[in-house]
Amino acid sequence: MKKICILGGGTAGWMTACLMAKHWLNRHADSPTEKVQITLIESDKVPSVGVGEGSTPQLKKLFDTLDISEQEWMPVCHATYKNGIRFVDWSTRAGFKQYFHPFPTQVDDHTVPGFFHNSFLIRKGIDLNAHPDHFFLTTHLAKQNKAPISAANFPFEVNYGYHFDAAKVARILKSKAQQLGVTVASATIEHVEQDIAGNINQLFAQDGQTFSADYFVDCSGFQSLLLQQSLAVPFQLFANNLFNDKAVVLSVPRNKQQPLMSQTISTALKHGWMWQIPLQHRTGFGYVYSSGYTNAEQAERELRIRLNIEASDISARHINMRVGQVDKHWYKNCVAIGLSQGFIEPLEATALHIVQEGIEGFIDALSKGGFSNQLQAEYNQQMTARFNAIRDYIVAHYKLNTRSDTLYWRDNAANQNLSDSLQHILKTWFSGQNLSDELTRQQIDKYYPSVSWHCLLAGYGHFPEKSQLIEGNDFAKQYSIDKIQQFIHACGLNYPSQAQTLGM
Ligand SMILES: Cc1cc2nc3c(=O)[nH]c(=O)nc-3n(C[C@H](O)[C@H](O)[C@H](O)COP(=O)(O)OP(=O)(O)OC[C@H]3O[C@@H](n4cnc5c(N)ncnc54)[C@H](O)[C@@H]3O)c2cc1C
Repeated sequence: MKKICILGGGTAGWMTACLMAKHWLNRHADSPTEKVQITLIESDKVPSVGVGEGSTPQLKKLFDTLDISEQEWMPVCHATYKNGIRFVDWSTRAGFKQYFHPFPTQVDDHTVPGFFHNSFLIRKGIDLNAHPDHFFLTTHLAKQNKAPISAANFPFEVNYGYHFDAAKVARILKSKAQQLGVTVASATIEHVEQDIAGNINQLFAQDGQTFSADYFVDCSGFQSLLLQQSLAVPFQLFANNLFNDKAVVLSVPRNKQQPLMSQTISTALKHGWMWQIPLQHRTGFGYVYSSGYTNAEQAERELRIRLNIEASDISARHINMRVGQVDKHWYKNCVAIGLSQGFIEPLEATALHIVQEGIEGFIDALSKGGFSNQLQAEYNQQMTARFNAIRDYIVAHYKLNTRSDTLYWRDNAANQNLSDSLQHILKTWFSGQNLSDELTRQQIDKYYPSVSWHCLLAGYGHFPEKSQLIEGNDFAKQYSIDKIQQFIHACGLNYPSQAQTLGM
């Protein structure tokens, strides 16, 4: 009997409990020799971070794995479908004040070659249309407030994410974890005991309860009670290239006169950016900013002015963010999952995606052979590489901005603290070389694919100035924008609106 103890009942804790239970408790129920016992400790005294309302397409895989249907969870969690993220006001270049980062679909195979072709040749000085917004089905669906769920006669795969009430998702996952056989304990841990080899032995709660296990999963959020506080694993801040360390969040009731959106909107403000996330009954807003450039009061005022709710009594919540990652995600008999292992600010809503990958990787490693040094080292190397690759993609959003209105944006554009990997990517783009080849060479296209990097770089309009371009009529014929647009439009006819799909 192996005992696993998960500390923390936030989203990361419940996701871990569900996936581990699904993997071990179900499968080995009749096999006493391989039985695993999983306990999750939750506390009503320590609050969860309580944000995190947007996902990548990975979350669908979680619900599918747990056999929780959309009909079951989406209405309860006020969830909506998400086609991707619209970036507004990050670039000041004419024609590029906004662009969409789409989730991929099967029909992209027909349109991406034209996008890559045009964005390659325009960097060689040929005047072609390479704005990403013209090439993707999910961009079109988002513009039309359509859900990415097609009629049955249009059987092409579309990857999509969700927007949801995070607290309600955690409740659904808790109930699933209990159904799958996870034991839930209510306790606030105040002391951690280690054995002579440094492994965690036992957790002691305020009320006298004790918890022993073979393996511990630290899902205790930013405070990282086990991995960072007890096992003293160091934390590397990303502060020298990701300046944001605070957020102020609020939500307003949904305006039923407006169509229900199927995209997240990320708008650059004076000292950071604001998310706008549509749920069925309300819209969530959050201003993610840097305390080095503004303070909580000014940030909240800027957000309220922006939303035209200065006089309203809608309350706002202020959140500290610790942006960076631990040196080792798995150390001794403890693995950290969620905010306890690190956090990259929420610009691309990747945190839950990383949680999922982290749990699956850990389950895989344990199933292969327990706590061998080699498996642990491989796991740590993979998690670190994932964090670094996602960080670089986020850093590029700031580095490439062309705003000059505040010191915050000018400092971001001037920032030279870039990883070698990111420097090579930018050099490849600006010297007109093949970006896909560079990403493959660096083996980082599994984290963000070439399409995402192209959307970002082309979406900001980082091309030679119009006056330097020569006419590209002959090249334009090869991939006619009109034909691509007609094709996307025709595909889009197979998709109903978000509101219709959700029966609202
Ligand atoms: C501003 C902001 C915006 C975000 N937006 C997104 C987004 O759009 N998409 C996305 O994927 N992610 C987002 N995230 C990240 C997301 O919120 C987290 O990844 C997710 O909620 C998981 O958090 P967690 O479970 O690790 O931590 P928490 O939610 O903080 O949970 C920690 C848990 O540990 C428990 N705990 C702590 N100490 C003890 C103790 N001593 N004894 C017992 N229990 C204890 C607490 O009770 C709590 O339940 C965002 C984060 C922030 C800060």
